Amino acid sequence: MNIILLGAQGSGKGTQAKRLAQTLGMHHVSSGDLFRKASEAGTEVGKKAQSYFDRGELVPDDLTVAMVLEHISQEKYVRDGVLLDGFPRTIAQAQALDQGLLRVGRFIDCSLYLEVPREELLHRLSGRYICQANQHVYNIDTNPPKVPGICDLDGSELYQRADDQGSAIQKRLDIFFNETIRLLDYYEQQHKLKTVNGNHNIEQVSKDLIHAVKACK
Ligand code: AMP
Repeated sequence: MNIILLGAQGSGKGTQAKRLAQTLGMHHVSSGDLFRKASEAGTEVGKKAQSYFDRGELVPDDLTVAMVLEHISQEKYVRDGVLLDGFPRTIAQAQALDQGLLRVGRFIDCSLYLEVPREELLHRLSGRYICQANQHVYNIDTNPPKVPGICDLDGSELYQRADDQGSAIQKRLDIFFNETIRLLDYYEQQHKLKTVNGNHNIEQVSKDLIHAVKACK
């Protein structure tokens, strides 16, 4: 299967994508992680993308589509299917993805929307801290580390992403609710959309997502 997980920043999309991929035995591909890795490695793509994601803006479609399609064209992804997290985020990306999959005889089976109200997203994002070593996610209100500023799991320091601070948060949410939200119609028209309430605890949301995937088959 090929599945898309749609959700605003702070909806728990990353956490749920990892859990869902593990449960279903699928490969998890996060476009945000691909950009961060490219940036750390100092590649051309990474350098071009850096200024956009520091400002909380979308990287241009051509760069994003080329990077993700190249990544998922590796044999293991084509063979086993992928769970896409953070891609597509625009209609142009969704169309390019459909065309790219079609070229290798594949298609999107299911698009899951993790729905969380905007006020809750704002609250979650402004308290979000991430560990340096493995990107484990904490929240100073709802999921604080045992020792302030230190990751419980690997002892590395926690930091706040540049795009989780100040006006960048509002900008990212605006982009989601003005632009990415249009993908709901795109997948609804293809009868592939399932909406899951993301405003429950992690376990409950995971169960609901599995249920939704089964309903897609
Ligand atoms: P994320 O970790 O998914 O929030 O992604 C971090 C940043 O990477 C975003 O704010 C964008 O700048 C960039 N990015 C990730 N995925 C995409 C995408 N599908 N289209 C454009 N930019 C993206």
